[in-house]
Amino acid sequence: MKSVFDIEEKIKDGNAVVCTADEFKAMIREGNTPSPEDVDVVTCGTCGVMSGTFAVMTVPVTKPGVFRRAEKVTLNGVPCFPGPCPNEGLGTADIVLFATSHASKSYGGGHLLRDIVEGKDIEVVCESEGKTYENQIYGEDLESARMITSRSAFKNYSAFVNGTNSPFETIFSVLPLQGNMSEATVSGCGEINPIQNDPERRYLIQGAKILLNGAQGRIIGEGTRSTKDKPNISAHADMENMMPEFMGGFLTSKGPECITSVAAAIPVLDEKTINHLSVLDENIPVPVVDITDRSVKGYSDYGHIWQNTDRSLMANPLNCMFCGECPAGLACPAKAIMPGGGVILSRCVSCGTCTYTCPGEVYSMNMGALEYEGNSVPVKLRQSDRSRACEITEVLKNMIEKGEFSLL
Ligand code: SF4
Ligand code: SF4
Repeated sequence: MKSVFDIEEKIKDGNAVVCTADEFKAMIREGNTPSPEDVDVVTCGTCGVMSGTFAVMTVPVTKPGVFRRAEKVTLNGVPCFPGPCPNEGLGTADIVLFATSHASKSYGGGHLLRDIVEGKDIEVVCESEGKTYENQIYGEDLESARMITSRSAFKNYSAFVNGTNSPFETIFSVLPLQGNMSEATVSGCGEINPIQNDPERRYLIQGAKILLNGAQGRIIGEGTRSTKDKPNISAHADMENMMPEFMGGFLTSKGPECITSVAAAIPVLDEKTINHLSVLDENIPVPVVDITDRSVKGYSDYGHIWQNTDRSLMANPLNCMFCGECPAGLACPAKAIMPGGGVILSRCVSCGTCTYTCPGEVYSMNMGALEYEGNSVPVKLRQSDRSRACEITEVLKNMIEKGEFSLL
């Protein structure tokens, strides 16, 4: 049996065989199951709405001695929690920012975190002892900025339908979820999800290295509400080296949420690792849950979501009818649609909303249908972006091959 140290040596020598989860699954589907001697590392990843994301930062407000202790702080209008350290008289505020806090119906903590990473200007408003202090800063002005996930990279997730006969507003839909179980909203990256490929958590343990939004960080431990059947992890990384295309805001029918990405490297040490890495979408069950009472209506699988469907959006701007206030642009939860039918690819998360809000049929993407208990329910919304998750596994693979990411 190989050890992680053996693999580290091979990485240092430039001899390690690294493949992405997508490349590994292709070998399995072709019937060419590799042996532990053939592959050293498989990179896995996930990208999607992850509400359990927050950041801890030190925000410059004014000169030392001007105020004693921040009582209220907003960044671009998003309320933050000052403290726990009072930073007495320092002119700065230590704050905790929840990615799910809202400045408005269209701007929240997830948007703010991406704006910080993109280097956009950030408006700081701080209240102390009846006075208000304002500042304009950029991400580089933050003395420290660390992102933490309280629960992320869920091994599997539920799909949601609405069993009532009225539309239902939820953080799991962009437009209200239509009733009579006529449409479904889905999450999870299936067979390339890190924990799905290490179900016994042999490698993805406390202290293991990961990429969080493209920046190197570590697993803190179990995430909140993590169970044996539905595990997830808590992780952290400095925001300084994050890549904006792997993060951002996402507008749901119940307000702004947050997109987060996690990638992990699984060292291939033995046949058991190979067996775990061989899991395929079609073998991963997806509970279909009524969003209104959380009752399970049946089970589908990720094969219906990610196999024989389109991973990315296709756009044909020539079909654009220039309908004034572009309905697709207004509905896009990532604000990725440009006037005239264009798409900002670095913002699009392939959620599919524009495929049915654009009357000109500019946008198309086959999102599949959940099959369960004799039902076939079309997927109306994806809250996870499999193609972006594949991209972050490529990023991690390249880092390992260049010797920029050590497994230890
Ligand atoms: S909704 Fe579609 S057709 Fe209408 S302006 Fe927007 S992109 Fe063009
Ligand atoms: S798929 Fe369409 S609606 Fe969804 S993020 Fe991309 S452009 Fe926006």
